[in-house]
Amino acid sequence: MRKIKLSIIFLISCVLGAKAQQDSIIMSKIYDHSFYKGQAYDDLRSLTKDVGNRISGSKNAEIAVKWSYDLMKTLPFDCVYLQDVQVPYWDRGSKEVLKLDGGEDEFEILALGGSVKTPQGGLTAEVLELELLSDLRKYGEQVRGKIVFINKPWDESMVETGVAYGLNSFQRSRGPSEVAKLGGVGYIFRSLASSSRDDFPHTGGTRYTDGIDSIPAAAISAVGANRLSLILKSNPRQKVYFKINSQWKGNVNSHNVIAEWKGRVSPEKIITIGGHLDSWDVGEGAHDNGTGITGTLDAIRTLMNLGYKPNHTIRLVYYMNEENGVHGAVKYGADAKEKNDQIIAAIESDAGGFAPRGFDIKASSSAVTWIQQVWKPLFENKYWVSRFLEGSPGVDSGVWGKHFPNTIMFNFRPDPHRYFDLHHTAKDVFEAVDRRELQSGVAALASLLYLVDSQYESIPK
Ligand SMILES: [Zn+2]
Repeated sequence: MRKIKLSIIFLISCVLGAKAQQDSIIMSKIYDHSFYKGQAYDDLRSLTKDVGNRISGSKNAEIAVKWSYDLMKTLPFDCVYLQDVQVPYWDRGSKEVLKLDGGEDEFEILALGGSVKTPQGGLTAEVLELELLSDLRKYGEQVRGKIVFINKPWDESMVETGVAYGLNSFQRSRGPSEVAKLGGVGYIFRSLASSSRDDFPHTGGTRYTDGIDSIPAAAISAVGANRLSLILKSNPRQKVYFKINSQWKGNVNSHNVIAEWKGRVSPEKIITIGGHLDSWDVGEGAHDNGTGITGTLDAIRTLMNLGYKPNHTIRLVYYMNEENGVHGAVKYGADAKEKNDQIIAAIESDAGGFAPRGFDIKASSSAVTWIQQVWKPLFENKYWVSRFLEGSPGVDSGVWGKHFPNTIMFNFRPDPHRYFDLHHTAKDVFEAVDRRELQSGVAALASLLYLVDSQYESIPK
């Protein structure tokens, strides 16, 4: 009996071993293709240089939609289509100003996305500096008439820079309303920059609470925040002049861009892969999220070029409006739910185009354990891709995924060290992306897509 059991185990491990060997051969073809013939880097050059940055609702965002549609049409997808989405359009206007009252030396600032403009002619006020919004209440009446300056330095010891970002980003989004409640007239926020030596302001979304006055809000560079803080320490009554010119321009018709590659075995079952197409309105939106856009498409192109035929339908989705509303993902989810789509898995890329490190996985613990045992060894030693941990899906998948709780979701995780040096700044340009790192990410994405498609049924649910 024991002998029979052992031979069954041996047989299974031989079969698994043979399967792993076959996967390993396919992955090495995928990697070779991506490094030698991959085109994500060339597509990224075109997106960043021919189109440029592309905030939702802008003319450039619609040029990016057409650019994406035309690019998808160059591949043998079974269909390419646009999905209508209403998005808000926020326009920065002319360059912002922050300087000491009566001085000429300006600080580097960017209006926060969604901010209202300062009153005609700008505003001059004293500044109240704090680290945490939660301390605001202690100051009560002292907030009235002041610009509140939240100056919480980034925790530079964290390798998980996304977590460091998350620890403080709520102060960017909630700050203006909290300050306005107490009669403050403006909001200056220390940029979410991973280096205190960074003199570039990092923009990002903020929002107002209904029924509370909206006050103008901007991000100041880390270097500028340190300088302003020193000045305020020597003179707490120092006034500043603050002017921003941004405004909402209402809702605009826009689109998600979608392509489908029909599965030959179970075409009704869908694997979604993609990322957001929009960007902030500074820099070129290269790492955020041009690399996600061009990388996921190139992953599919790699499999197509290698002659792969998918079992399930592969659906490439470029979401509009992740940065300031996630209306694209909301629309994608609502439509998919209405059509009763069977979305079995999703892969999102929205964390930059640095060297790939792995994937966060939203699935049952048994599915994650299985993936760690069966797929992780294929990636880790040869390709240095070793992070396969239970975690959150990307922002867009997370939004539409609320309708699809059983979908297995993968969130692409490139190296996080330098992402928040560039994130939402004028530095996020094509030149900041390395071709080898980007194409290595394409290979990791294509390998995962191949494994999910060919072995989905083997994953314990
Ligand atoms: Zn992004």
